[in-house]
Amino acid sequence: MPSTAARAPLLTAVLVMALTSCSIAPQQAAPSPLPPPPPPNSVVGEPVAAMDPAGIPGALPTSLRTGTSAPVSARWIYIDGAENFNNRLDGGLLGILDQNSGGRYDPSVADTAGAAASNKVLTLDHEIIATGDAMVGTRTTRSKMVPGSGPTVSVTTEYTDLSTGTVEPGAALVAKDSIEQIRKLLGEAIEEKPQPSTPSASPSPGSTAVASSSPAAVPPPAGTLLGGAAFSPEGDLVVPLAVSPVTGRPLAAPVTVHVTAKSSTRLLSDLGRRMQQLASAPRPLMPLKPAPAGQKHVNCDLVPCAALTYDDGPNEQTARLLDILAAHKVHATFFEQGIYVATHPEIAASVAAGGHVLANHTMRHPDLTKLSTAAVQAEIQGTSNVIKSATGVDPGFLRPPYGASNARVNSVAGMPIIDWSVDSLDWQSRDKAVFLPKILKLVKPGAVILQHDIHSTTVDGQDQLITSLQGLGYHLVTVPQLFQGIELQNGRAYFCRGTTSPCTPGR
Ligand SMILES: [Zn+2]
Repeated sequence: MPSTAARAPLLTAVLVMALTSCSIAPQQAAPSPLPPPPPPNSVVGEPVAAMDPAGIPGALPTSLRTGTSAPVSARWIYIDGAENFNNRLDGGLLGILDQNSGGRYDPSVADTAGAAASNKVLTLDHEIIATGDAMVGTRTTRSKMVPGSGPTVSVTTEYTDLSTGTVEPGAALVAKDSIEQIRKLLGEAIEEKPQPSTPSASPSPGSTAVASSSPAAVPPPAGTLLGGAAFSPEGDLVVPLAVSPVTGRPLAAPVTVHVTAKSSTRLLSDLGRRMQQLASAPRPLMPLKPAPAGQKHVNCDLVPCAALTYDDGPNEQTARLLDILAAHKVHATFFEQGIYVATHPEIAASVAAGGHVLANHTMRHPDLTKLSTAAVQAEIQGTSNVIKSATGVDPGFLRPPYGASNARVNSVAGMPIIDWSVDSLDWQSRDKAVFLPKILKLVKPGAVILQHDIHSTTVDGQDQLITSLQGLGYHLVTVPQLFQGIELQNGRAYFCRGTTSPCTPGR
């Protein structure tokens, strides 16, 4: 401690200066004239902020919560119209989920009791961190609870060129011959900081034990070291680290290191410089052709889906049902009869305008197996014609009345045949207290639910049905969404998606 008496004249001088300049607080004024140290090339800082999907046109946020023996909580973002990006994302997520379940993952609905009881929760968070023209930067944070030792966290970034389909990992941001310089800069931020001195000569027993028993130094390879690399708006190269970049030993806690723009820019690849510019000056994504409302990207091998299908309309009840579906932002599939489309073309048109899928349920609802081939063709073709004329939509699916089909009907169907796996028998009970519990008992991920939009009692139950199914975690989808990724064959019958008979597996 310096003597107060010795410092008094100097303090007085500083005080006078401070009062004159009004800029330096007396307690901050250092007596030493040493020049300030140069700013560090790398520092510990914050992770790059994710972009708000609400601000990205075409972003489709999706989430999943399952409650099985290996519970999962996940959220990710599709980009409408970027099917290569979306399919690759699905493949990556399914790979992680297969690994997590120790075998084939199948979507299941939430079982909150099970999820709460288990401590093996996997959390996946896929975010968009950069966009500009054809480029999308994404970050996937994977966190798994390990009993007794807290979560293990891994962070992976990817840079996708939507125009070429090229996908590059975080390490591709740095020029290949500059990896070791980046490694050194990363190390400086976390290992070469002066340690606070302690009066005691012996460090805590715990840290000594860890240090002396650690395995030999093996620096992580570039792909691992820079697996989560990204850029901050200031242009810093931002790298999350769970292990030492120099020794490979696990860090006490994960950190994020910023290598300043000043020191990293010359070490970047062409891709790195491009992404660095976009981080500093974001640009909108290139225009993509969005999918129709009821056909947005979804993967029903990944999330539990159920397809609501309504038969025998349209009629006045259909209009009321459309309002309920719109209020829930849910899209459904309508198997319509040609004679009623001809009677209510404006209702059929509003089904199409609502983004729902129109499909073929014959003209007059006959048992097609009892008709001649020519009569079957007339029933199917006549319906497609009248739907096309009322709505502009050429139906792509046939549901034969009563689900009755045979080889002859199949051979002239000219489109995939969509049956169902959940028969509500809503037409029989005409009572939601009967058909709703029936649906909820029979529904499984991948289900096709059969109801009839011509009955007011059915429409009366839909608000509650949608709320119940969504509450269980179901994603309510249209028929083409349910079977997305499966090449449906004309004249072949499909009942549901899944691995149990009679469903069709997606993978
Ligand atoms: Zn019918």
